[in-house]
Amino acid sequence: MCGIVAVIDSQPVKKTIIGGLKKIQYRGYDSAGVCFKSDLKLVTIKVKGSVAKLETELNGYDGEIAIGHTRWATHGQVCEKNAHPILSSDKNWAVVHNGIIENYKEIVDERTSEGECFFTDTDTEVISSLLSANDFEDNLRSVLWTCKQLKGSYAFCAINKSDNHVYAAKHKSPLYAFCDGKMSMFASDPICFPKGDYYKFEDDEICKMSKGKLEFFNFKGEKIKKTLQKYQNINSSADLNNFEHFMLKEIYETPDVLDRVCDVYEKLDLTALKKLKFSSVKLVGCGTAYHACLMGAEFFKRILNIDAEAVQASEFRYGKQIIGSHSLCVFVSQSGETADTIAALEKISKKKAKTLVITNVPHSTLSQMGDMHFSTCAGPEICVASTKAYCSQVVVLYLLTMALKSEKHFYQALRDVRKLSEQIQKFFINISPFAEEIAKHDKVFFIGKGIDYITALEGALKLKEISYINCNSFPAGELKHGVLALVDEGTPIIVVATDEKLYEKTMNSALEAKSRGGKLFVISSLLPQAYELKDFEMCMTLPKVPKLLRGVMAAIPLQLLSYKVCMIKGLNPDMPRNLAKSVTVE
Ligand code: GLU
Repeated sequence: MCGIVAVIDSQPVKKTIIGGLKKIQYRGYDSAGVCFKSDLKLVTIKVKGSVAKLETELNGYDGEIAIGHTRWATHGQVCEKNAHPILSSDKNWAVVHNGIIENYKEIVDERTSEGECFFTDTDTEVISSLLSANDFEDNLRSVLWTCKQLKGSYAFCAINKSDNHVYAAKHKSPLYAFCDGKMSMFASDPICFPKGDYYKFEDDEICKMSKGKLEFFNFKGEKIKKTLQKYQNINSSADLNNFEHFMLKEIYETPDVLDRVCDVYEKLDLTALKKLKFSSVKLVGCGTAYHACLMGAEFFKRILNIDAEAVQASEFRYGKQIIGSHSLCVFVSQSGETADTIAALEKISKKKAKTLVITNVPHSTLSQMGDMHFSTCAGPEICVASTKAYCSQVVVLYLLTMALKSEKHFYQALRDVRKLSEQIQKFFINISPFAEEIAKHDKVFFIGKGIDYITALEGALKLKEISYINCNSFPAGELKHGVLALVDEGTPIIVVATDEKLYEKTMNSALEAKSRGGKLFVISSLLPQAYELKDFEMCMTLPKVPKLLRGVMAAIPLQLLSYKVCMIKGLNPDMPRNLAKSVTVE
């Protein structure tokens, strides 16, 4: 969370820094700011609100050295004062930061007793304060000394008014660097950079940026050599391409993503995967990725007959886990930077379990951590609410499980996914009448059984994150054990029923809700009988796809429904309130 960008060029950098901030606004968007170094002054402009708002405030300001930030507040209210860059009290240093400084209270106490004043409510201000605490001859030494005082997680960039460098340091939060000999940049995500190879900071590294030059150091102050990361050209951009919102664009990209997954996995060497020996599986993720894990657990149980359990990463890391050399642990994260998922993997790193990581960002922290890494190949996903990446996570889990079963199963699975891609392409339906009805309500229930219950969970999460409607999902059979008390006249119940074997049972529960005033909106793979239609407010029949892929098929209309409801309510689906993508803090 929080996006940071820094630039030094031989020409004014306003356009580059604002362009970069816009691309990483998915990481946070409650406030934004930039600091230009001009002559021997630091000029800071900050706003509460978006980067677009910041841009309108920048008339007349520019410079050849700048640092910028788009914030997702963790400490201190969302207001202009707490927006980054944060200046030191002597105004010599300006800092942008991503992460949480855990010992900030101690540092504030110590510095206050030395006569220092603090002006913001952020944890970040201790960084600028420490940078100015000592009068080291060399600013790099101030940065080194400061890093040694900090506990917690940080990627920060800092400029000092007396020299022409940007200093950056990383511990746990992601940070990247780019230099083409003329222009140099630091950023939280390489999508900010022009096409070309770049550097990835490892933990406890510092970089000193000069015009056209980058120098890396470890925390002892020794120079280190870094290897360039190859620029990866994914056929999907971080631009809107004529779509009104990233969410809609990304839903529409799903067929291409599934085709790409097939192209990549068809050629992949799965020998190491097939050699794995395990008798139980834990799948770990957060939010939508956790729902993909629930799907994955079903695949392991149903295809391989192996005990599997999905656990939310935030629970996994503090709960008791029975894990040993017989266990396979699968970690799923779109960004590969999800702090809880990383910590969950770290927790079991000393056990003998095999670890497999599935992310959408191959250069991410998590991707480098497991015994094996598999990519979801979805291309940049900008909208905070995950759509195409969810579908590809589920499909990758399906392909991997099928590969573990047998070659024959794997190739059949690839054919099924290719067909699914075609079927989705034809199924971008007009969901407006459905959405008009749902948008009238302030609570919605989603129900299903088995895999359909997982789809219901994901459908409810999607709708609540972007429409702010109170959405909850339940296994259909659980309604009468409590939830029915909340059903009254007109309560919408979205019923996911794609499994013919469970259809009748699901409908029995749905009809119990209808008898209490509930309105049924049914998503099914069966054509409804004429007598059923009078019970349904609305009903949608999905194309026929293999049973275990029906969750992906059903996710599409549910994603479109959420988008449409969000539009009807006049909200921005790409930037839901209080949320951000790439949850790099606990
Ligand atoms: N802790 C900093 C703040 O609240 C940065 C937050 C973050 O990186 O998410 O301003």
